[in-house]
Amino acid sequence: MSEALRVVIWNECRHEQQDEAVRAVYPDGIHKALERGLNEYPGFSIRTATLDEPEHGLTEPVLEETDVLIWWGHKAHGEVADAVAERVRKHVLEGMGLIVLHSSHWAKVFRLLMGTTCSLKWREAGERERIWNLAPSHPITDGIDDYFEIEQEEMYGERFDIPEPDRLIFLSWFQGGEVFRSGCVWERGHGRIFYFRPGHETYPTYRHKDVLRVIANAARWAKPQVRLESQCPMTEPLEELPPRPCR
Ligand code: ZN
Repeated sequence: MSEALRVVIWNECRHEQQDEAVRAVYPDGIHKALERGLNEYPGFSIRTATLDEPEHGLTEPVLEETDVLIWWGHKAHGEVADAVAERVRKHVLEGMGLIVLHSSHWAKVFRLLMGTTCSLKWREAGERERIWNLAPSHPITDGIDDYFEIEQEEMYGERFDIPEPDRLIFLSWFQGGEVFRSGCVWERGHGRIFYFRPGHETYPTYRHKDVLRVIANAARWAKPQVRLESQCPMTEPLEELPPRPCR
């Protein structure tokens, strides 16, 4: 059997501590719900980390041993230390996979890697979301039909200020009429990045079987292809060069 994929699920975990309505949906935190959901699939070795841990639980040794990092944040993006965000970015550029969920569109880490504002339109009205599968041949949509629905979700609408994705995987339609590019992939450096929209904290979205399947597929897809330290070395020529002309 091949080695387990080492996944870290990072959650800000503030709503769950401060908001009774969120605690009712995710009593032990969004990270634990995601962990349980992903553990239904074989091949993952999962640990979790949260904002309040020292260095947000994302120390250099932790990231060195992480194949894929899954990120959920919302109200405390500004409390993520710049040094930790930069450390995550460096590891992505060197090959670590990154899955960015829902309101993490505004996470420091994501904005650093995208280079744009990553802003969007939103509305919290508990409307139906229909998520269309635009890439049935892509590994992230394995086992996903033409579309799936979430009965109640927050609306995210275009324009989503992201760089053009390398490939658009999902497109969402909302009951109120908006559409949104809800599944996008990019490569940055040697790392693979997947943004996936669903997952507002007051809805049980991370118990939805198709949502969990997509995240599990994405974790496998985002696995490092190489792990190469960023360098910028002066290098000697491979062949003998002619003498420089006199000036
Ligand atoms: Zn939300």
